[in-house]
Amino acid sequence: MEKVQFTDLCRKLSTRGGHALSKAILPVVEGHLAQNRKYKLPVIWIETSDSGDNNIAFMNTTYPYLGRVFTEMIDLLYSNTFMAAQGQDALIILEQAAALYRGMFTLVVEGAVPTRDGGLYTVIARTATRAITALEAVTWLGSLAKHIVAVGTCASFGGPSAARPNLTGSVGVRDVLNREIINVSGCPVNPDWFVGTLAHLLMYGRPELDDLGRPTLFYGFTVHRHCQRRSYFDREDFAEKLGDIECMFSLGCMGPRTGADCPYRQWINYVNWPVRANTPCIGCTNEDFPDGSTPFFKPMPEKNRPAGSQPAMPGPKGDAQ
Ligand code: SF4
Repeated sequence: MEKVQFTDLCRKLSTRGGHALSKAILPVVEGHLAQNRKYKLPVIWIETSDSGDNNIAFMNTTYPYLGRVFTEMIDLLYSNTFMAAQGQDALIILEQAAALYRGMFTLVVEGAVPTRDGGLYTVIARTATRAITALEAVTWLGSLAKHIVAVGTCASFGGPSAARPNLTGSVGVRDVLNREIINVSGCPVNPDWFVGTLAHLLMYGRPELDDLGRPTLFYGFTVHRHCQRRSYFDREDFAEKLGDIECMFSLGCMGPRTGADCPYRQWINYVNWPVRANTPCIGCTNEDFPDGSTPFFKPMPEKNRPAGSQPAMPGPKGDAQ
């Protein structure tokens, strides 16, 4: 299947609701495997400064499910979460994998990178003789990788790890490496966004990215654009409290300035998403999350509203996209 066909298929499915992209991934991956069964995407995955939420989200991938991702899609060369080896043994595996697959592997970074005091606030490997900081590991492995995928908002932009007062000087991977980073933001990431990005790298290479380095397949439209409560917004009919059925712009919803396909993809295996569960979107995929979203449950400041929004509540109008 040609790239353009895959992309068109994804767009078609992602704009009509119901079954979304992940149900399109599986047959396409199967088609790829039928033709090229031996090749898997070599991946080195390091976890830096984060909560571990993204690998938990990843474990909930459904189409394809986790076992198939490991056995048929990616060759996971190193991951401190998913591998059995520890300590010196793990470090030897990491060094050998980086050397053997130099220029071929995809580096997945999960978490922000502390930079203050030489990066000592996050150590990813420690032996009897040395400690490797996240800063050192990202710099080292980032210079050897073919592609770099920052998974989650911490790795992409700093996220909660870099929130005020950011005592560790944490930053996103893009602020450490002077090269292209594929940012798959979200707190946590939707497994479809991450597995879909890996599938694209496996079969077609680099996906189309937006101006924040995020795959447009998943982040190309605002939450607001496809929200089930959009008709309330357009009628200026706003919720007064959580649990009301109207638009939650009045309760701090960040949907109008948040790129993500949550309204139709949902979480996980199409179960639910925040607005449908009666809580506002908090903008977790955004470059300035969480500081730019706080205080939560307060209408977003006028300066942050998309162009065209009315300045005062009630009565917001307009939409970024
Ligand atoms: S402001 Fe939030 S609740 Fe209202 S329509 Fe937009 S995304 Fe939906």
